Amino acid sequence: MDFYTVLGVRRAASAAEIQRAYKRLARALHPDLNPGDPVAAEQYGAIARAFEVLGNPERRARYDRGEAAVASEPVPRVGFEGFDFSRGGGEVSFGEIFEAPREERSMARGEDLEQAAHVSFDESMQGAERSLEVVRFEACAACGGLGEVELAPVPCRRCRGTGSLRARRGHLVFSRACPDCAGRGRVSRRPCGDCAAEGRVLQTERIHVRIPPGVRPGERLRIPGGGNAGRHGGPPGDFVLVVEVGPHELFRRDGDDLHCVVPLSMVEAAGGAHVDVPTPDGPVVIEVPAGTQAGQRFRLRKRGAPRPEGGRGDLFVEVAIEIPTVVDDRGRALLRELAALHPQEPRRAFARKER
Ligand SMILES: [Zn+2]
Ligand SMILES: [Zn+2]
Repeated sequence: MDFYTVLGVRRAASAAEIQRAYKRLARALHPDLNPGDPVAAEQYGAIARAFEVLGNPERRARYDRGEAAVASEPVPRVGFEGFDFSRGGGEVSFGEIFEAPREERSMARGEDLEQAAHVSFDESMQGAERSLEVVRFEACAACGGLGEVELAPVPCRRCRGTGSLRARRGHLVFSRACPDCAGRGRVSRRPCGDCAAEGRVLQTERIHVRIPPGVRPGERLRIPGGGNAGRHGGPPGDFVLVVEVGPHELFRRDGDDLHCVVPLSMVEAAGGAHVDVPTPDGPVVIEVPAGTQAGQRFRLRKRGAPRPEGGRGDLFVEVAIEIPTVVDDRGRALLRELAALHPQEPRRAFARKER
């Protein structure tokens, strides 16, 4: 039986013509569309065999040269899978006929690992170091991360050494190359027992992490390659440290700027003073001018949080004023004297509105 005749194409037909002819015939003769029709089933088998050869340039060339080795070769699943024989809503594909393929031993990137670290506010300004215990997958030493180890060739268990798998559907028996041994019938590798063929094993490890000065609350510090080893030799994931920063009793952080409140005495605010204000690097002296009001803000450039990319934020100092409670006669007399010397009209805006 000539394969070109079976598919009804010329010997000089292009690959596309051969594929078109095969698809057209396969649709018409598919066993699920011709249940109980032995002629259709037989024809269907014939066109499948013809396409196995003519659909592959290498096999087709050998067939054209009259070489006989063609039939004995394991047939890859090329052209069969993912071929959709839909008609009238019913979908039948070869993928359903064969059992689901075994999970591929393909490389896969390892997962990222995440852990939280708490640092105090001061540590977040100065930087910190943490030593963390991390449970992570490491590449398996027994198999070098491949999930398989070499051994002397033995018959393949899955196909019992035949190199092909068979599946029955109605009257038809389909066969395909055994994926475990790639159709060779023998295997020279076995799954690694140390890592259950994963190529990686769980290990507890200490990781040393440097937390940079100025780290932002909730910042995610990424250590490339510090996560799980990949499956079957795949690249590792990352380790991500999520930094939690504790509060500070004086400073409030806003971006890379810091805010704090500096209380002044009434006398300091009125007469001006040099006062110590806290900064992340220790106290600095600022000059408060006479007549400083409550709520007034001073900006201390580059006294805020260090920026990981360089530079620093600013520190904003807001003035609060503590007023003494004056109930003694001498105190009241002095206040009256002061008021006479420096008359004030604090509610002048109200007065204007009343008029
Ligand atoms: Zn292993
Ligand atoms: Zn096999």
